[in-house]
Amino acid sequence: MATAISPNESKTMIQQTRLLIGNRWVDSVSGKKFDTINPATGDVLAQVAEADAADVDLAVKAARKAFHSKSPWRRMSASERGKLIGRLADLMERHADDLATLESLDNGKPRHVALTADIPLSIACYRYYAGWADKIQGKTIPIEGDYFCYTRHEPVGVVGQIIPWNFPLLMQAWKMGPALAAGNTIILKAAEQTPLTALRVGELILEAGFPEGVVNILAGYGPTAGQALARHMDVDKIAFTGSTEVGHLIMQASAETNLKRVTLELGGKSPNIVFADADMEQAVEGSHFALFFNQGQCCCAGSRVYVEEKIYDEFVERSVDRAKRRTVGDPLDDATEQGPQVDDAQFDKVMSYVDAGKREGANLRCGGERVGDRGYFVAPTVFADVHDDMKIAQEEIFGPVMSILKFKDDDELIERANKTMYGLAAAVWTRDISRAHQIANNVRAGTVWVNCYDVFDAAAPFGGFKQSGIGREKGEYGLQQYCEIKTVMVKL
Ligand code: ADP
Repeated sequence: MATAISPNESKTMIQQTRLLIGNRWVDSVSGKKFDTINPATGDVLAQVAEADAADVDLAVKAARKAFHSKSPWRRMSASERGKLIGRLADLMERHADDLATLESLDNGKPRHVALTADIPLSIACYRYYAGWADKIQGKTIPIEGDYFCYTRHEPVGVVGQIIPWNFPLLMQAWKMGPALAAGNTIILKAAEQTPLTALRVGELILEAGFPEGVVNILAGYGPTAGQALARHMDVDKIAFTGSTEVGHLIMQASAETNLKRVTLELGGKSPNIVFADADMEQAVEGSHFALFFNQGQCCCAGSRVYVEEKIYDEFVERSVDRAKRRTVGDPLDDATEQGPQVDDAQFDKVMSYVDAGKREGANLRCGGERVGDRGYFVAPTVFADVHDDMKIAQEEIFGPVMSILKFKDDDELIERANKTMYGLAAAVWTRDISRAHQIANNVRAGTVWVNCYDVFDAAAPFGGFKQSGIGREKGEYGLQQYCEIKTVMVKL
């Protein structure tokens, strides 16, 4: 399965492979580089400067200097800050085509999906937070005695942001938008699988005119550069999106060093509940999208599909039929619905879950195998007759593998839906409005979709209950996570 772009074309697309520190593009201190590959072919796309502890240190110093009370950034008015963020959004819009191609080459997601989802959502996120910059305000508080008491919402300071590879541009926007609006300075570490678009946005940040050191962008590995950032004594906050396992390490690093603030957006095993009274067509298509979108590489994927007994068989038949019709192939082809998994490690992990499903007696109805002879393509896979205690119903697969479970009544359902360590998202498909609200109230999850799935908006908060995370991103709640509250009392 070839990709319809020549190595030369992809080289002209990749303009930046160095690290952005203090508004300068630099090689890593060690001089080391690592390969970033095209998951559709397995070919090396580019070699990228590999940051480690020494580079993190330089980036933190640059960010700290930019946070100095007399720095241009700190002296800039809030509305000017907003204008800068808006300018970044405008530049991204101007370069939307190239960004989409680059995202597709590095991540494997279909280019047309990047162009219609990742990029407009990222731009909207920056615009949303550009609007917030001059609306971040404290309160005046009537306290006992002759005092004037007020609060200021100040930036947290130097913030480290560690992002994953599944939505590189969008995760960068969710993290940088609110941090910049609130006046923080940033060291962002891109995922090692997908560093290219984060670095390209770094160029746009310079073009927009952000002062020196406000945004520093590193590429490098988690256990080295990521850990160094999480453990750094001069970093005031870490915002992390990734696996629950690494989320534990981030908290631990904070606890063992300087108690930096930690916000986490972690894994999920989201229940997607289909009642017999749902619009069948809508529920089948919506559930297909909920699981297979982005090659199944979504933390909020609807990966446990609970279907009411009465319609179970029909739902399974239709879902299998839809999965078989899903077009898998070249991410640069507009007809492609599903590209490759991001790398060989993720491919192997998904396959090991397919094996686990078969071994534990789930009914493999379609897929379960590699597509093509190069790249990391997995056939859309559906397991029926899945039980709650099976590995594929408990652990995050992060691939195009749907598990369909059966339920009889509402009472058992909520308990089963909540019986995982995760609590990121959930969905319910029904025409009964009171039942929809009852499920929405009782399911332990940060987002509940009713008769829809994966609806995202910059204004609507997103994040997890339980081990799916701490804190919220997007919206006003997301902004609060980048502010410290200061109380000022003045004797009158
Ligand atoms: P996944 O398993 O989906 O690749 P990870 O949680 O491993 O997700 O990675 C998400 C992000 O966290 C990436 O940027 C990665 O480099 C980083 N990361 C991985 N391990 C660590 C670690 N020990 N400390 C800090 N960051 C890490």
